[in-house]
Formats: sequence, structure tokens, C-alpha cells
Amino acid sequence: MENADVVVVGGGPGGSTVSTLLAKRGHRVVLLEKETFPRYQIGESLLPSTVHGIGRLLGVTEELENAKFMVKRGGSFRWGTNPVPWNFLFAVAPELSGPTSYAYQVERMKFDEILLRNAARNGVDVRENSAVTTVLDDDERVRGVRYTDPEGVEREIQATFVVDASGNRSRVHQHVRGERIYSDFFKNIALFGYFEGGKRLPAPDSGNILCAAFDEGWMWYIPLSETLTSVGAVISREHAAKLQGDQEEALLGFVARCAIVKDFLSDATRVREGTYGELRTRKDYSYTNSSFHRPGMVLVGDAACFIDPVFSTGVHLSTYAGLLAARSINSVLAGDIAEDRAFEEFEGRYRREYRVFYEFLSAFYDMQSNEDSYFWKARKVTNLNATDMEAFVTLVGGVHSGEQALTQSFQESSGALADAVERTGSMQTESGERMHHLFGTPVVREVMTEMNNIQVRGVQGAEAVEAPLLENGLVPAADGLSWTEPKK
Ligand code: FAD
Repeated sequence: MENADVVVVGGGPGGSTVSTLLAKRGHRVVLLEKETFPRYQIGESLLPSTVHGIGRLLGVTEELENAKFMVKRGGSFRWGTNPVPWNFLFAVAPELSGPTSYAYQVERMKFDEILLRNAARNGVDVRENSAVTTVLDDDERVRGVRYTDPEGVEREIQATFVVDASGNRSRVHQHVRGERIYSDFFKNIALFGYFEGGKRLPAPDSGNILCAAFDEGWMWYIPLSETLTSVGAVISREHAAKLQGDQEEALLGFVARCAIVKDFLSDATRVREGTYGELRTRKDYSYTNSSFHRPGMVLVGDAACFIDPVFSTGVHLSTYAGLLAARSINSVLAGDIAEDRAFEEFEGRYRREYRVFYEFLSAFYDMQSNEDSYFWKARKVTNLNATDMEAFVTLVGGVHSGEQALTQSFQESSGALADAVERTGSMQTESGERMHHLFGTPVVREVMTEMNNIQVRGVQGAEAVEAPLLENGLVPAADGLSWTEPKK
């Protein structure tokens, strides 16, 4: 039987990140991907920490720049009671201002392939058209995987660690023996497609994602090139029946009822051929697993958890988890840190990041008050079944977050953080003021904290000094690729 240090299941952003950062420490890593790249995936709007932090650690910054993806300065939101959209800009936090205060809107077929080919260049043994069928384990730990090779032959690989980065539709995650818990709050369904010739926001915001609330939910409008736009409607799962019939009619119906998107698409045509010609749906996509690891195995990205796409957090969470998992596995393989301590650090940080986004997004949904709408009434935080909410937040929380040392520099700029929201006309309303207030709250500082750390590390490399994020926790080593005990 074949042997490896680590087998990574799945070649999306999470799998490519973890495998590259393991191979950079000289480990033998096999990545098994069931598709042949390029393959389609949704999740096109990125955050700066992925582009400038993770991108630099992986060594793909220049390649991403050369790919000429649409530059995203922030998000524009038609959210709250006033019809005028307002902007959230990335340039607000001190470390983010200047040359790294932007992200990209990406065609995932191109972005994911850049990351996967880069993994191979860094020494990862990438095998496409190779689907993992089961995980090999015993009572003590996970010991490898079984997969089907491109010729249809069943093969086994023994490994010290298995990383499941196989996304939200695979069942490999079940081998950590946890349970997948779905959020009652974000019980949504998305219907999406692509259009040619849609309008753009005025410069310099023309690359922004536009999110627009309407009675039945909200829509995203993501400019992928000068002419191509990704358009999706997020609606309540209770309305799933509407999507059973003609999906084109359903999508165009949502567009017709969402004034700003209707106007932006007034001269556009829906793409009807090729990969972008298909209309697609996704449902029940907000969940977290009750455990992210067991001896010999960790979950990364959508395999572990996902929250509603309104703030474009999916790729950030999967690449961040890839970084955390690589640090933990590199530490254990080097004999520096015991496995349970290294994995606790992984899961503690990962849950913390998920929880702060979860809280922030719940509050953000709450800002769009529309008492006449079933969708928005059902998503008032105050209307939540308190027991369900508490149970879910406790589960995703797991740890105390918000270390003083890390939030200090943000406290100094708390006013500036609220100014991430441009005070356009719509901010002078009551709901605008509430929104502005939300961006000045501790939860937003927490949302920013770890994303900033990743970005600072990408820019400063070994110079970056970090305090522990968790109580009695570990800190990143100088190269950012493993953990070390903090200096007393
Ligand atoms: P994936 O990208 O899903 O990669 C998993 C890979 O594993 C796939 O290539 C798959 O083929 C492979 N695989 C599966 N099973 C097996 C197997 N058995 N063996 C081998 N390989 C296997 N995120 C954002 O950042 N921005 C957005 O704007 C955004 N919008 C979204 C909109 C919607 C409606 C939804 C549902 C999600 C959105 N997301 C967004 C989230 C984003 O799609 C995911 O979070 C992200 O793709 C997760 O990356 P990953 O690497 O964990 O998994």
C-alpha cells in the first residue's frame, strides 16, 4: 500500500491552501480531487485577507494580479429602509489601507485552478479524477483513505493525517464522527445564473459586489468582467416550491421585484450556453459540524462549516482553516506540539472566526427590517427561538474570543471602523444610523481582527508578531507555517 504524510481530499481553495503549506515544510502530500480542473464552483466574491494574506503565503499574488480579475474595493448594499445604496470599503482598517485594500471578484474556474496548479508546483502530488470513497480508520485514529483512480481502480493510501476539504456535498466529513447542525436562522435557498451586458456601479466602485434586499430576500450582483455578471437570489427555504417549475421564470421574477437589480439588468441578456448557461440552486448551506477533528483527521472549509454568503466569507473561512490546519499538522509532524493541543488550537481559532461572522451576519440581517415581508420578519433576531439560537451560538462559539492584545489597536480606530460604511444619503436615516452603529461594535472589530492578522503576516512575513488568540493558546512560528508556545 502507498504511504504519505498527509492525504488531502478536495482541490478547492481550502484543499489547495492546506496542501501547499504542508508541502512547503517538505512533507509528502497527496491531494485527491474527484473532478478534472477547471471545474465550476459558486463563491466568486473574495475578501482582502485571502488575496493579500493567504495569497502571499502561497506565493500566488503575482499570478492573481496577472489573471486580471475584477478589482473589488468593497461592497455596495441596498439594505435598510432607504432606496439609496451605501458602501462598505476595505480601506478603513490601518493595516488594510493602501496597496492591499482591495480584493477580487473571481471566476472560480480560473481562481481555483491557479491555487491547485500552484500546489503541484510546490511539490503536492495532485491527482484529479480521483474520488475518495471512504476513510480508513480504527478505534484509535484515522489512518488513510480509499479512492477510485482515473482508470476506475480502487486504491488505498496510508497517511499520518487526512484533511477533508471536500466541500459541502461530500460525506467524507462524517468520519470525524460529529453531527452536522443546520442553522435555523439562515435557512435559505439560492437560485443563480449569469448575464452579459449588465450595468456597473459608477467608478471607483464598479468592481464592488452589490447586495440588494427585496421583499422575498436579497440578491447578489457580482461583476466578473467588464460584461459578465453573476446574479443570484437568496430566498426563504419555505419558498422552495417556487423553484420547482421554470427556474428562468423564477429568477427573472425575483429580478423584476428587486428595483436596483432590475435597472442594472435592463439591457442585459442571460447567458444560455456553456458552463455559465446553466441556472443553479443551492439550499441549506448554513451549518457547522459538532466536531472539526478527531485523531488523524481534520475538516477544512465547507466540509466543516459555512455561513450565508451575504458578506462573502466562504473562501476566507476555507483558506483560513487551511492555514490553521497546516500549522497544526506541521507542528505535530515536526514533533514540536502534541496532536491534541495542536488540533485544539486549530478548532478553537476556526470556531472563533466562524462565530464572530455568525453574530455579525445575524445582526446585519436584522438591520433590514421589513415588517410586511415573511422573509425578513422570520429573520428578526428578536423573533428567534432563544433556545435554538443559544444552542447554535454556543456550539459555534466553543471558546472565549477577543483577546485584549489583539483588539487594542482596533479599539483605537473604532470610530474609523464605523467609517468603513460611507455616509451616503441613505445613512442619514434611522436604519442607516443603526447600520453605522453596527459597524462600530466590538463584533465587527472581532471580525476584522484575525483577517487583519493574516494580511499583516502576508505583508510582513517573519516580522509579524502575534499574541495568542485563545486563552493559554499557541502563536504562529516566524514563517507562519506552524505553531509555537508563546514566550513567557
Ligand atoms: P469547494 O470549493 O467546494 O471544493 C471542494 C472540492 O472537493 C471540489 O473541487 C470537489 O470536486 C472535491 N470533492 C468533493 N468530494 C470529493 C471526494 N469524495 N473525493 C475527492 N474530491 C472531492 N464564498 C465566497 O467567498 N464569496 C461568495 O461570494 C460566495 N457566494 C456563495 C453563494 C452561495 C449561494 C453559496 C452556497 C456559497 C457561496 N460562497 C461564497 C461559499 C463558497 O462557495 C465556499 O465556501 C467555498 O467554495 C469553499 O471552498 P472549499 O475549498 O471548502 O470547498
